[in-house]
Amino acid sequence: MTDLYRLLPEEMEDLMIEFDQPRYRADQILYALYYKFPQNISEIKQLPKEFREELVNKGFTIGSAKEVHKIESKDGETTKLLLNLEDDSPIETVLMQYPPKKLLGHPRSTVCVSTQVGCAMGCVFCATGQMGFERNMKAEEIVSQVIHFEKILSSKGQHTTNIVFMGMGEPLANYPETLRAIQLLTHPRGFGIGQRNITISTIGIISAIDKLADEKLQIGLAISLHAPNDKLRKWLVPTASPNSVEDLIKAGKRYFLKTGRRVTFEYALIEGVNDSTETANDLAVLLRNNGSHVNLIPLNPTAGDFRRPKRDNVVEFERILYNSGVNCTVRVEKGVEIAAACGQLRTDVLGKYNNTGIKSQRQ
Ligand code: SF4
Repeated sequence: MTDLYRLLPEEMEDLMIEFDQPRYRADQILYALYYKFPQNISEIKQLPKEFREELVNKGFTIGSAKEVHKIESKDGETTKLLLNLEDDSPIETVLMQYPPKKLLGHPRSTVCVSTQVGCAMGCVFCATGQMGFERNMKAEEIVSQVIHFEKILSSKGQHTTNIVFMGMGEPLANYPETLRAIQLLTHPRGFGIGQRNITISTIGIISAIDKLADEKLQIGLAISLHAPNDKLRKWLVPTASPNSVEDLIKAGKRYFLKTGRRVTFEYALIEGVNDSTETANDLAVLLRNNGSHVNLIPLNPTAGDFRRPKRDNVVEFERILYNSGVNCTVRVEKGVEIAAACGQLRTDVLGKYNNTGIKSQRQ
């Protein structure tokens, strides 16, 4: 089976040639996929009935992730979905909306997508990391998460304005499919979002960061650092390489030099683990004069023992970085009450409904 959402516009044109169809049929299909969101090929009414049947008979399909659970924050700005993929693997996708800056403007609507079912990186503070790894997602499965929310947004006259690869999984450990998803989402005849409106977040696979820099894309890169020294980082991210902190900062610099895009270092602040003033000073020494940006993320509490730091500690940590000349922000907290950290919803729902047919990751 081939999902039509997998095909880049040029590949769609090649397919039309194979089927002995005029080239404009490719645009008809692409328009339907990205503006009309059909559930199956028979709904693409612009195509002749015989051609639709021929596509189905030759194994083409339109896959769609099925919504099995949805929760919204009280302010309505964060929506988290548990979606079942074609093989019933449950994954999470989140929509975060930010009020418009102008009175009559549209909200900024950021879709956070997953790239793997589970994750092999094993970060000790992350619910997804505790699930283990099941499989890589295909590019069309990554795209389908955006399409799912775009369909909802477009019915309200709104659109996806940003996409972040920060959901379940390590996107650069699924490099070919992540790259194809970016191409599909940014192609002017595909989903058509600007490259600068996409950010990839990585725990830091250095060879893949360098490869991504060579793609000559304009996408943003966020590297999850979480610690100013290798000993602490290796404890938080057990799969990290022995010299990860210094190597990651160098990799970020190379990415910036090749793409011109400033790199963000993400730092999950965990009470009593990496939120001390001493740690803040060490981080400041590392990143001073480096031109990068630090995004402090007070940890979303998971089922484990890790806790979010007190507000005063977060402010003090930020102050130390700022006073040392490190560009720094604290991430706007969204959806804390709906368990918006990656992996939490899936863990919660599977805990509650483990006998309802949703596939368990621990089988
Ligand atoms: S934080 Fe990211 S890389 Fe680490 S286990 Fe969770 S999903 Fe994987």
